[in-house]
Amino acid sequence: MEAESPTVNIFFFPFVGGGHLIPMIDLARLFASHGVKATIITIPNEATVFQKSIDRDQQSGLDINFHVLQLPPDTSLQTVDMSAPPMTDTSILQEPLKQLLIQRRPDCIVTDTFHRWVADVIDAIGIPRIIFNGNCCFARCCDENIKRFSPHTEVASDTELFVMPDLPDKIELTRSQLPIFVRTGTEFPGKSTRAEQNSFGQVVNSFYALEPAYVDYFRNVIGKKAWLVGPVSLCNRNLEDKAARGQKATIDENSCLNWLDSKKPNSVLYVSFGSLARLSPTQLYEIALGLESAGHPFVWVVGKILDDKGKENCFPDGFEERILNSKMGLIIKGWAPQLLILEHESVGGFMTHCGWNSTLEGVCAGVPMITWPLSAEQFYNEKLVTEVLKIGIQVGSEEWASWNMERKTVVAKEKVEAAVVRLMGAGDEVMEMKRRAKVLAEEAKRAVEADGSSFNDVDALINEIKRCIR
Ligand code: UDP
Repeated sequence: MEAESPTVNIFFFPFVGGGHLIPMIDLARLFASHGVKATIITIPNEATVFQKSIDRDQQSGLDINFHVLQLPPDTSLQTVDMSAPPMTDTSILQEPLKQLLIQRRPDCIVTDTFHRWVADVIDAIGIPRIIFNGNCCFARCCDENIKRFSPHTEVASDTELFVMPDLPDKIELTRSQLPIFVRTGTEFPGKSTRAEQNSFGQVVNSFYALEPAYVDYFRNVIGKKAWLVGPVSLCNRNLEDKAARGQKATIDENSCLNWLDSKKPNSVLYVSFGSLARLSPTQLYEIALGLESAGHPFVWVVGKILDDKGKENCFPDGFEERILNSKMGLIIKGWAPQLLILEHESVGGFMTHCGWNSTLEGVCAGVPMITWPLSAEQFYNEKLVTEVLKIGIQVGSEEWASWNMERKTVVAKEKVEAAVVRLMGAGDEVMEMKRRAKVLAEEAKRAVEADGSSFNDVDALINEIKRCIR
């Protein structure tokens, strides 16, 4: 960047809820590291969670701050946490945001698509608006082509495979794996096409070498202006940032690391379903049996449970004692320091719900995955991992359901066991997956280093904003 050029002033307006808030904080920190004056617009309890990371960035000379929007005492936003769902209504922030923008007039604002009301407010003030929607290009291409070609309407049943038309690879899905609002032809309210059409462009948390054919397709065929700036999680370089990312971990990081230290390299399976999904007690029971009979060490993050009534008995009799005494497994009830765990040398596999952040964090850690998509765009991500990148195997999840819905089907213990035995074993197929995963991890790191593709895309976006404000 030219030394004499003016500092670009960018606001970042994250959505509440882990899967969207966490990467947007990282995004702001990333842009600050490229010389931008970054302001994260947030609400009180969110700012507290990330304050220490931001303090450390400031101490190292970055120009990054929070601007906390005050809330009336009776609003439900006062108590949101990492598990806030996508439909959370944030419109109470409309007026304070408007006043702030009129007063401070940033050069540009990055907003999350789940703030459904935001486009009109910002466009009326005339500030360039960049969209962040948290997905990769592959998923965006699937999403767009479903809308353009409706291939799912041409199959006779929810379980019959159809091919996603016109994509660079042959990708097959069933209707049951599509979001309900796609199946029923209703638009998900968080995805306003009008908001996209009037925007300055989009930032994508991905990197070119991960999905080159889909980045090109997204830009050239679908016609979106996109800067690929990830993996944004790689801006967390020190232990403190990684240990308390998003929320203070339920487990003390040292006991977690000591437990991992006691295991052989690549021997542990990390199991997590993200910040939002709620599995049923019946499903948790099957996972427990499957993990135990597979016989490989594991760290299992048991987040929120669907039916609180069944909470007490969702594990088989004596399961917790057995795995504790044999040191076979570590169960984390609540929030795990995911980046620290994934990066530990003893972790050799990741059973994931294919949330995009987790998937990309798995890529950065160079671990192959067992894919267990549940909702959102996770079934598309599964296809990217298993069929395009070929760094994972499917557990056999067949049914899309919203984060808080009971599923009709349960993935049986036999499927869990088979997937774990296969992924954590030393078969040729898995060794090849591991090799590919390591290569991608190296490419991910290269992308964010000086002159890497994502590094250059961040600078390209900053320069474009500069041209716009001159
Ligand atoms: N996460 C974490 N600890 C947990 C659960 C989640 O650090 O116990 C982080 C994870 O690293 C990721 C984010 O929360 O950055 C979850 O986002 P993702 O897109 O994977 O899934 P979602 O939670 O949106 O379903």
